[in-house]
Amino acid sequence: MSPRSSIECDVVLALVPTFVDDEVAESVGGTVRRHLMDCPACRAVVQEEQTMRQWFVPGPEVDVPAGFAAHVARRAFAGDVGQAPVSAPQLEAAPDRPGGRVLAFSRALVAVAAGGLVAVTLILSGGDRPAVGDLDAGKNLEEALSELEAENLSLELKAPARRVEGSR
Ligand SMILES: [Zn+2]
Repeated sequence: MSPRSSIECDVVLALVPTFVDDEVAESVGGTVRRHLMDCPACRAVVQEEQTMRQWFVPGPEVDVPAGFAAHVARRAFAGDVGQAPVSAPQLEAAPDRPGGRVLAFSRALVAVAAGGLVAVTLILSGGDRPAVGDLDAGKNLEEALSELEAENLSLELKAPARRVEGSR
């Protein structure tokens, strides 16, 4: 848009989340700031992003149980639609801790959301394929799952009897 900008709007827009989190290198940050001076469109995006950040107040760190993601994926593949009570021992371990119930609830919610997402992606990639984007989603899912599987294996090294089992 602006002839003087040394970088393009799409570059700036790609950097916005990192820039707002103040995680870009100082030289990059300076370049982005100079672009924002000249470019109202990108400036608006940055302001919007900053406004959105204010909704997310950093809370205390949550200990995710070991193998949580793999556990969720396994249950989703086993046909769990996320309505059964959450029974992972770690979730029940802290009901008396303040916020423990909220924590358990949000973990259940995350599990439900992740399960639903996996299910939707499976439906999209397994059914008739209306768009190229859906094919990509299926491919990414498979990559993510094999990563999960690898991570899970490294966590379960104590059980050497279990080798890689094909998922289908
Ligand atoms: Zn711009």
